[in-house]
Amino acid sequence: MWIKGKAFIKDNIEDCCIEFDRKIKQIKKDCKPDISFNSSSLILPGSLDMHVHTRGMLLSYKEDIITATSEAAYGGVTTIVDMPNTKPYINTHERVLSRLREFENYSRTDYGIYSGVTNDNRVDEDPIAGYKIFPEDLEKPELKSILSSKRLKIIHPEIPISNNSFRNLREMWQELASLYFVQGKIHVTHATNYNTIELAKKFGFTVDFTPHHLLVSGEKDCLSKVNPPIRDKTEQNKLIRALFEADTIVSDHAPHTSKEKNMPYEICPPGIAAVSFTTPFVYTMFKKGIISLQRAVELVSKNPAKILGVNLGEIKEDKIANFTIISFNDWRYHTKFSKVLETPLDEFPLEANILTTIVEGKIAYDGEEVYPIRGVNIFDKSGNT
Ligand SMILES: [Zn+2]
Repeated sequence: MWIKGKAFIKDNIEDCCIEFDRKIKQIKKDCKPDISFNSSSLILPGSLDMHVHTRGMLLSYKEDIITATSEAAYGGVTTIVDMPNTKPYINTHERVLSRLREFENYSRTDYGIYSGVTNDNRVDEDPIAGYKIFPEDLEKPELKSILSSKRLKIIHPEIPISNNSFRNLREMWQELASLYFVQGKIHVTHATNYNTIELAKKFGFTVDFTPHHLLVSGEKDCLSKVNPPIRDKTEQNKLIRALFEADTIVSDHAPHTSKEKNMPYEICPPGIAAVSFTTPFVYTMFKKGIISLQRAVELVSKNPAKILGVNLGEIKEDKIANFTIISFNDWRYHTKFSKVLETPLDEFPLEANILTTIVEGKIAYDGEEVYPIRGVNIFDKSGNT
């Protein structure tokens, strides 16, 4: 297939033609394209989201692989990496394999999965993205062998007592303290405040933040209840620096049913489902002149590909043909294909929207519909990725 338009190549915008099948074959000045994108749109490397809870398995009533990856494609995300806290918990060789089978059958974007902390050392040889370390894992004896693994470790930065604290006692120092428990190839996810970003960098870790910790004003109700909690206005204002200094941005897409979200505040489950928000938001920041286009691509595409160590994140010959094509229009955010219909980011004004999403050389979203294309496990070294 040939597409033609303004594309982000080698850190610049070029008018060009791109030929691809599963991978990008060549980039030329002219061609007879199959699809031509007009000059108000931009062909960008596909976005990656390193932190998604697709749910599925016994939690499919909240969200499943089809609805989560359809929502991702609608949001311009071409690769998601899934968290292990589904039912059953993904932390044995057998469960890793059955989880991968579920993705193989249903995922409409490329994908990877993290295993939970485990003493099953066969998992280290499995085609996983790495391990997720939750606060309660910091006191488990098997953490030691996970930390010594060469695989990526992505840490939820809070300590075991954070889990048992009242919401208002889930404080920032607990977030910072957790970083002293780990070492090695560490990625710190959903930093809620600038100090966490600074400390992560000091330790040589990579770090991300979420749109909701930056934009949602306070924890008012169950809809905005999330872990770690949204900090106060002063901290939130300082977190703006993350747009310039964090390695990447993630959604922490964490769906729950409206019935669960309508339970009393004290017992309702935390989590915000907005996997489709991140990419339009980041390119809106570019449109507004707050960040450069290079920085926007770095945040959603180039850097997460680098952190995960995968052949993505750039428009270049031999890279996987994943593209996010955007245009600049004013619209207000809402989910479309997720089972979750309400998020605290609803009606947020955006200036960039997703025109088309291409995954593995195929159209996954065309601006209206999503299509049942097959994503692949980008960590499967036996495949031809
Ligand atoms: Zn999460």
